Amino acid sequence: MPERSRRGTRIAVCAALALALLFCLVPAAPTSAGAAVEPGTSKRIDKATFWALDWLRRHQSPDGSWKARDFTAMCRTTCANDDPARYGDGRGNAEHDVGVTGLAMLAYTGFGHTHKAGAYPEFAECLEKARKYLAGVQVKSRDPNSNGRFGSTRHEQWIYDHAIATAAMAELLVMSGDREALQQVVTDAVLLCLRAQNPGSGWKYGIQPGKSDTSVTAWMVIALKTAGNCRLDIPKERIESALKGRQRLVPARDFDFERGDRLRSHGR
Ligand SMILES: [Zn+2]
Repeated sequence: MPERSRRGTRIAVCAALALALLFCLVPAAPTSAGAAVEPGTSKRIDKATFWALDWLRRHQSPDGSWKARDFTAMCRTTCANDDPARYGDGRGNAEHDVGVTGLAMLAYTGFGHTHKAGAYPEFAECLEKARKYLAGVQVKSRDPNSNGRFGSTRHEQWIYDHAIATAAMAELLVMSGDREALQQVVTDAVLLCLRAQNPGSGWKYGIQPGKSDTSVTAWMVIALKTAGNCRLDIPKERIESALKGRQRLVPARDFDFERGDRLRSHGR
C-alpha cells in the first residue's frame, strides 16, 4: 500500500477497532498455565460491549449509515450528553461511510443480533436501518465492473468499503436466513468481489489492478468466506476457487508491501 494516505490509515484503524471489538466478544480462554477465568469476566465484557454498541446506536444517522466524519451531528440529538468537541480531529473521511457502516454492522452481528432479532430490539433496529442503507447505495448497472458495488468510486480505496459491506451483508444473511431481503444483494456484491480479483492472486484498488495488497485481500477473504456459507446464485466452486490456497493469493512477485516504508523505518 504505497499510497500512504491518511484516509487509508483511518479505515485501517477503523478495521482494527472493529476487530478488537469482535475479539472482545470471544470468551476469554484459560491462560497457558491453565488458570481459570476470573468469575464475572464474561458479564463485564457483555456490559462493556452493550454500552459500546449503544454508543454506536446513538450515533447512527437517520438514513441508517454511520458517518465517518459527521457522526458528531447526532451528538446534538440522540447523544445530548456528549460534547462533540471532545472528538477533536478524530473524525474520518466522509467517502468511507459505507465501510464504516459495514464495520458497525459487524459489531452488532458479533453480539448475536440480526436485523430481525436479538436480545436488544433497538440493536436489531440499527441493523435493519443499516441494511436498508447499504441496499440503497448498491449500484445497479449493466456494467459488470460496477454492478453490485456498495457506494461510489470517488475515493481510490473504495474497494475496502465494498469488501467490508459485503462481509456485513453476507453475515446478516447467514445469521438471519432472510433470503428475500439479502440474497440478490449479496450475490451481486460477491460477483463484483470475484471480478475484482487479480487472476490467481489477491486484490487491490479497483478491478483487477494487477498488484495486490494485504489488507484489501484480507477483507475480501473475510467477505468471501462468509459468503461461502450463504446459499447464493453463484456456484460454490467459484468462491472456493477464489479462496483456494489463499496463502498464495498474494505471491511475492506482485505483492506491493510497503517495502520502502519498512526499510526507512529500519534506518536504511
Ligand atoms: Zn455524541
